[in-house]
Amino acid sequence: MTLDKRNLYRLPWSMNDNPIAWLEVSDICNIHCEGCYRQFVTGHKPLEQVKDEVLFFKRWRNPDNVSLAGGEPLIHPHIVDIVAFIAQNSIKPIILTNAMALTPELLRELKKAGLAGFTIHIDSHQNRPHWKDKTERELNELRQHYADMVAAERGLYVIFNSTVYPSTFHEIPDVVRWGQANIDRVHGLVFITYRTATTATHVAHDTADRQVDFSQLSYVREQFDEKFVTAPEVYQIVKETCAEYEPSGYLGGSILHTSYKWLLGALVGSQKRMYGSVGKKTMELAQAGHHAWKGTYLAYLSCAKVGAKVFLLAPWDSTLRQAARNWLKDVLRHPGRLFDGLYVQSIGIIQAPDLLPDGRADMCDSCPDMTVYDGKLINSCRMDEYRLFDGFLTVVARPDAAPQAVAK
Ligand code: SF4
Repeated sequence: MTLDKRNLYRLPWSMNDNPIAWLEVSDICNIHCEGCYRQFVTGHKPLEQVKDEVLFFKRWRNPDNVSLAGGEPLIHPHIVDIVAFIAQNSIKPIILTNAMALTPELLRELKKAGLAGFTIHIDSHQNRPHWKDKTERELNELRQHYADMVAAERGLYVIFNSTVYPSTFHEIPDVVRWGQANIDRVHGLVFITYRTATTATHVAHDTADRQVDFSQLSYVREQFDEKFVTAPEVYQIVKETCAEYEPSGYLGGSILHTSYKWLLGALVGSQKRMYGSVGKKTMELAQAGHHAWKGTYLAYLSCAKVGAKVFLLAPWDSTLRQAARNWLKDVLRHPGRLFDGLYVQSIGIIQAPDLLPDGRADMCDSCPDMTVYDGKLINSCRMDEYRLFDGFLTVVARPDAAPQAVAK
């Protein structure tokens, strides 16, 4: 159960040819999540600015989708117009939301405007009204509510993501099992490992080498004594929960050759059982094929119900071949299962930036979540350094501080 980059396909995404464009339409939010990295500074972006950014992405990013993020995008007064503008530009609009403002009526309007789907963020460190102090297992009831709401509208896909803290790491299996039970309506799960820098152990300098008060950043706190969870650890616990899971694609670190920053995998299964995963060859064919056919790389599958035709790729892909064998054996034992729907459900694992002892940050190589700031593409997870300090900070350990478990 150890990861080996040689068994995975390095996703071919780059700065100028990347399936994801990250567009923040607002920095206002209706809740406060512990793991959030955005401060309220400017409010809702004017519609014209949002349109300009869409066109900027179209020119410089070649995206398959625009991920509308924030803040909370659903509370932007022009969210329906924004979705419509992106769809008119032949890009898939996707909304990343906490879903608090989502209603069946708004959902219908967004679909009519051309929405492709949602990524809904739910986890137990969000301070949600009526859902405080709940476990991840208890929050599955809320996930179910939104999964059912989106499924009822038909034709939209939905992914659920959550931030993983050291204290919630052991609850990942509850979310994975819930996802599997809902494979007919949940298209994917994403686990993002929590990271922070601490003022007790570090000091920060701006690009002019002046020391600055970096406690203003929401991803900085005074102290954090726990050991950060890593992507390989998340992989391991997902694998222990679902032996059929295998990632097929990855992005490494921008500095460390050993890091796994993005792990992408896709399970093949029915509501009754999982049969296996797609392997690196299928991932490669999907990326290259989509690029050859549509001109863009691919981050989200638009349809999760794939049927047995998914196994047509098995001759090229040993991981998928194993899934096909498991399915055949199951169908021979239970012939009725031939008629069960077969679905693909992605499981992604993201390891947020790691601060290295020399002050550099190991980011995601070919960062898929780059956003526009002042005419430049920058990593969205660190945009507040630009907004508050005019550029990325260099953060170094205080000479007097005890060593901290920050970077692997
Ligand atoms: S480097 Fe990019 S992909 Fe990685 S966490 Fe930051 S914004 Fe997301």
